[in-house]
Amino acid sequence: MQRLKILILGGTTEASALARALAGDARFEPVLSLAGRTKAPMTPPIPFRIGGFGGVEGLVQYLKAEHVDLLVDATHPFAAQMSRHAAEAARIAGVPLLVICRPAWRPVEGDHWIPVPDMVAAVAALGAAPRRVFLTIGQKELAPFRAAPQHHYVIRSVDAPEPDSLPPKAEIITARGPFAEADERRLLSEKRIDVIVTKNSGGTATEAKLAAARALRIPVIMVDRPSRPDVETVETAEAALAWLARLHDAAAVSRRGV
Ligand code: NAP
Repeated sequence: MQRLKILILGGTTEASALARALAGDARFEPVLSLAGRTKAPMTPPIPFRIGGFGGVEGLVQYLKAEHVDLLVDATHPFAAQMSRHAAEAARIAGVPLLVICRPAWRPVEGDHWIPVPDMVAAVAALGAAPRRVFLTIGQKELAPFRAAPQHHYVIRSVDAPEPDSLPPKAEIITARGPFAEADERRLLSEKRIDVIVTKNSGGTATEAKLAAARALRIPVIMVDRPSRPDVETVETAEAALAWLARLHDAAAVSRRGV
């Protein structure tokens, strides 16, 4: 049986789940690619590589040099550049591409969400009066909040952000999800949070803060997802596995000349 080489662009729960599902599956030879953003990533159960490819051209070269048969883009819904590069490189190299993108969160009764298109708009939505703000947007996009130094920020991220990127009144909490609703409520109360800023990442690992905000009637400034290339997309690792299995079977049939 010929094994299909798969490159998984990771950094998400879904990519890790797919890696676990593929570990030991004789039909495939998977490699997980991580950007290298977190200092201590969880060690995957399949071979992995860390670091950028060097743009579209670098990724095309990698796909060709490593004889990759199938590409799975399981990056975060906000990793727009990597997704654009993946779509372009897959097209050039002629490698079938599947995106795994978890559904966005949707407001339910009792939520008070203020949707905004990006971080600059999120800063504007905080308003002029000083507020106590819970920022859960990762460590890369804090700089725009320096333009609103009147607010007190409680910032939660996996690794501590670069000091240069911080607004003056910033308190850092380093933590990795999943988070429980009771703990999120306690945190919001203890820190006397007036408003939350978050990206619409979707998924269960970090959604407890939304339920906690609902219970405590705290408004949420919700940053919308960036647009993504028009590529075949599934929502879960299980659906991606089914896609891989289908392509594996189709390749076996075409090799037998059926
Ligand atoms: P990005 O802005 O779309 O990507 C920037 C550059 O980082 C890419 O052009 C690529 O460099 C490199 N890169 C990104 N993902 C990669 C991967 N899986 N393997 C190898 N190189 C990768 O992405 P980002 O927002 O910085 O996200 C980086 C990683 O963190 C992704 O794996 C993503 O899934 C994860 N993550 C992101 C967020 C978020 O909110 N953005 C949240 C949680 C996790 P080259 O051009 O040199 O190839």
